[in-house]
Amino acid sequence: MGQLLPLKPERALRLSKLLVMSDIKIPADLLPIDGRFGCGPSRVRQAQLDAFASEGAKLMGTSHRQAPVKNLVKRVQEGLMDLFHNPEGYEIVMGNGGSTAFWDVASFGLAEGKAQALVHGEFGSKFANSLAAPWLTAPTVINGTPGSRLELQAEAGVSIYAYAQNETSTGVVTPVERLAGADSGALFLTDATSAAGGIDFDPLATDVYYFAPQKNFASDGGLWFALMSPAALERAERIAASDRYIPEFLSLKQAIDNSRLNQTLNTPAISTLFLLAEQTDWMNENGGLAWADSRTKAASSHLYDWAESSSFATPFVANPEHRSQVVVTIDFNDDIDAATIAKVLRANGVVDTEPYRKLGRNQLRVATFTATDLSDVQQLTKCIDFVVSQLG
Ligand SMILES: *Cc1c(COP(=O)(O)O)cnc(C)c1O
Repeated sequence: MGQLLPLKPERALRLSKLLVMSDIKIPADLLPIDGRFGCGPSRVRQAQLDAFASEGAKLMGTSHRQAPVKNLVKRVQEGLMDLFHNPEGYEIVMGNGGSTAFWDVASFGLAEGKAQALVHGEFGSKFANSLAAPWLTAPTVINGTPGSRLELQAEAGVSIYAYAQNETSTGVVTPVERLAGADSGALFLTDATSAAGGIDFDPLATDVYYFAPQKNFASDGGLWFALMSPAALERAERIAASDRYIPEFLSLKQAIDNSRLNQTLNTPAISTLFLLAEQTDWMNENGGLAWADSRTKAASSHLYDWAESSSFATPFVANPEHRSQVVVTIDFNDDIDAATIAKVLRANGVVDTEPYRKLGRNQLRVATFTATDLSDVQQLTKCIDFVVSQLG
C-alpha cells in the first residue's frame, strides 16, 4: 500500500462538496413527471412521439416533392394560420436553417437602407449584427441592459424595426406593437422564436413574425417559419427584382415561391414537420393561442411567486412588466451556488435548468413553454427547495 498524500484543504473541500452533491437524492414524490425544462430543444410531448411512431413513420423516407409530404407541409401552414388568428393576406413562409438562417434571409431579402434594432441580450444582438451588412446603412441599435429593456423609437428614414418578442437569454418580453410616428412602409420584424405558440399576440401589429419549431412548438430544430404581411411579401418581391446579389439558399423570394407550393428550396426534416403539425393541432383543438397563453402564464407565475416569497431566490427581471411568461430566470443568493443546484437536478433527471451560458449569473433558467404542465413546474420548485435544504 502506498502512503496516502494529504489533500490540500481547498481540494478536500471541493471533493466533499462533490460527494454531498452526488449523494443528494430527490424523493420520488417531489419529482416532476417530465423533467425537461430547457429553452430548446425543449420537451416533446409523449403524444406527439406516439403519433410519430404510428402516422409519422409512414412519411419517413419518402419524397418531399410528392403529395404526402406536401400535404403535411400544408397541414402545418394551415394550422399555424389558424393559431395566429388568420390575418387577411398574410402567408406562412418557411425554409431551412432555423431562426439564425432567417436573420441573414431578412438582411438579404427584406432590409434596405437603415434598420433599428432593440437589443438587451444575445439573440437581439445577433439579429442587429445581421442588419449591419455592408449593403445596408449602419443600423440604430437601442442597447438595453440584460434583464430589462428599452423601447423602439420612431425614427425618420428607418425601414425596418427589429426586436425579439422573448429574449431567451434573459427572460425579457417585449410586446408585439407598431410604433406611432414610424415612416409609412416601415416593416416590423418580430423574432418570435421562443414566444410563438406560447404568447398570444395581434398579427396585424407586425409584418414578419418568425420562429423555429424547437421551443413552444415542441418539435426539433433546423427549420424557420415566418408569418409575413402583404407589405413584407411585397418588399421581398421588390428587393428580389433589384440588382442586389442574394445567395440562393438565403433567398426569401425562393422561400416564398416554394412555400406557396407547400415545399422548401431544399430537403426539410420530415420528422420535425410532423412533430410541429401535432403540436399545432393540439393547441388549436384545445382553444388556440389564448389557451396556450393561459398555460404559460400560469406556469411562469408560479415560478415568479415562488422566487418572490423565497428567502434565497429572486426573479432576475426586476420589472414585472418585462418578465417573460415563457422563459423564467431566477437569481440565487451568493451563498447558494445555482450551478450546483442545476447539477443535482440533472443527476435526478431534471434537466436543462442551467442559465444562458454567456450571461454568467448565479441563476437558473426555466422554460415554461406550452407543453409544460403547471404541476411539473410546481414539482420543480419543490425539488429546488429540497436541494437547497440539503446543501445546507
Ligand atoms: C433559440 C432562439 C434563436 C435561435 O434559433 P435557431 O433555430 O437555433 O437558429 C433565435 N432567437 C431567439 C429569440 C431564440 O430563442
